[in-house]
Formats: sequence, C-alpha cells, structure tokens
Amino acid sequence: MTKSKLNREWHLAHKMPAKATLEQRLEWHLEHARNCQCRPITGQIAEEMKKRGMTIPGA
Ligand SMILES: [Zn+2]
Repeated sequence: MTKSKLNREWHLAHKMPAKATLEQRLEWHLEHARNCQCRPITGQIAEEMKKRGMTIPGA
C-alpha cells in the first residue's frame, strides 16, 4: 500500500462549501492542516492568519 499525504477520509467528510466565507475557509484550513498534509496553507489564507496572529500549522 502506498502512503499518501492526502487524508481521503477527512476530505470526504469535510467538503469546502462552494461559497465559503473567509471565516469558513480559515476554519477549514486549520482543521485541514491538523488532519491532512496534502497542501500547505498559502496565499490569502496564510496572510489572514498572520494578520490575526494565528499560528499557521506546518509553516
Ligand atoms: Zn488535504
């Protein structure tokens, strides 16, 4: 069995809403980083977390 960084089960259980608000996206990415490492937190989400003094998981 190949080891994947993608936590498929978590993704299936946590679909990002099509019109997610920034709050929802921040929350999703925080939860995502705790459960899955398929992609790092970058761009607007990372900027917003820095602005709020939040720790970026995995950064
Ligand atoms: Zn993932």
